[in-house]
Amino acid sequence: MAYPMVGIVGRPNVGKSTLFNKITGQRISIVEDKPGVTRDRIYYETEWLGRKFILVDTGGLEPDSEDEFFSKIRMQVEAALKTVDLILFVIDAKDGLSPVDEDIANMLRKSHKKVILVLNKVDSFKEMPISYYDSMRLGFGEPIAISASNGLGIGELLDEVIKNIPEHIDDYDEETIKICFIGKPNVGKSSLVNKILGEERAIVSDIPGTTRDALDTYFEKDNKKYVIIDTAGMRKKGRIEDKIERYSVLRALSAIDRSDICILVIDATEGPTEQDTKIAGYAFEQNKAIIIAVNKWDLIEKDNNTVNEYLKLIKEKFSFMSFASTIFISAKTGQRLNKLFEEINSVWEEYNKRISTGLLNNVISEALLINPPPAEKGRLLKIYYVTQFGIKPPSFAVFVNDPEIMHFSYVRFLENTIRDNFGFQGVPLKIEVRKKS
Ligand code: GDP
Ligand code: GDP
Repeated sequence: MAYPMVGIVGRPNVGKSTLFNKITGQRISIVEDKPGVTRDRIYYETEWLGRKFILVDTGGLEPDSEDEFFSKIRMQVEAALKTVDLILFVIDAKDGLSPVDEDIANMLRKSHKKVILVLNKVDSFKEMPISYYDSMRLGFGEPIAISASNGLGIGELLDEVIKNIPEHIDDYDEETIKICFIGKPNVGKSSLVNKILGEERAIVSDIPGTTRDALDTYFEKDNKKYVIIDTAGMRKKGRIEDKIERYSVLRALSAIDRSDICILVIDATEGPTEQDTKIAGYAFEQNKAIIIAVNKWDLIEKDNNTVNEYLKLIKEKFSFMSFASTIFISAKTGQRLNKLFEEINSVWEEYNKRISTGLLNNVISEALLINPPPAEKGRLLKIYYVTQFGIKPPSFAVFVNDPEIMHFSYVRFLENTIRDNFGFQGVPLKIEVRKKS
């Protein structure tokens, strides 16, 4: 599920970070032992009156010196404009309007993006400051007055936010396979996408009835429908927002969120790197199906062992997602690109696969006999039955007498049992332990 993105822009010191923290409540989730990017999250899933959106942290792009002041701010605003669906433009009630505010306003007006003007540091609502009236000449109507540090006006602001964001982002139909290519710069993502789309059998067309990203590329191939999510920075190189690391990471994360299958592209000549693990970790945390594509395979000198050695290395580096398949390809020569699509199609089937409760419990009850759950804290775990309650990813509920005494290694055993019997190659499984009432 993809949510609309909301960004906060404004010159330094107007209170952007304070507002960001106020809205997100500084809920920072730290997940241990996972290589993901949870720790340095730059965007936060936020909810107001049941409506979800992503608040983007546009911080970290503050100008460091006078002479780069305008260019940095301009970059920040441009990058935000490319990324988000709605802009909160913050100005400072105490300082009043400055030429930089006017500059930003000009850029925002030209972009035709939705903008909410936010007048911060209105610490008392008894009387609106002069800047309240003054700010209307920026061309965004009446500002919403707030005090980010005192929490005044935040509710009104959020009301306005949810009025101005789309309810649904994607409306691709159920059969359209949403894929994204992730990985560091220069691993060959653009080359891959261009090669795939340049193929005779790939019929690229306008996206049927979609509201969102002009950067998505829809195509049909062998009677199947695909969309490559967010080909930003892939088809046209060197655009300004791609140079801002923070935003390219952000785009990648949001592309992952919107996809079903993430193809992690690795440069064969370089091998998997820390950055690859991080981005794959995020896809994993989001329960996406994952394919590892080792690209530039044409550049590797091979002998009988090369593939096996490489597979071993991949297994080590990505041990947390051992379900993922690895495939060796070349965007340059087109080697095994058809295999890549076979893999995508097969992973898609698995991601959508349902196993009937009857079949599932035949297998599980047999496994329970062979390897009964160990006693935990002197108590005996009883497993009543298992049922699949969802797809994308395939999700299972295990009903037990007491979830507290279910050991994670036993959950792992159940997962392996399911995989051994039903496949699910290439996709993560979600297993929830529930108390049978
Ligand atoms: P940013 O550079 O735009 O991210 O601004 P910050 O959030 O770092 O805030 C700049 C300064 O303004 C800090 O000293 C904040 O404490 C202060 N500030 C933020 N919001 C308010 C507010 O509502 N009222 C007052 N009086 N000060 C605020
Ligand atoms: P991106 O930044 O991940 O989109 O990477 P690009 O597609 O721009 O590729 C980076 C460089 O690697 C370019 O010079 C490509 O020509 C080259 N490249 C990409 N794929 C292959 C491949 O399969 N084999 C070889 N030999 N070079 C490749």
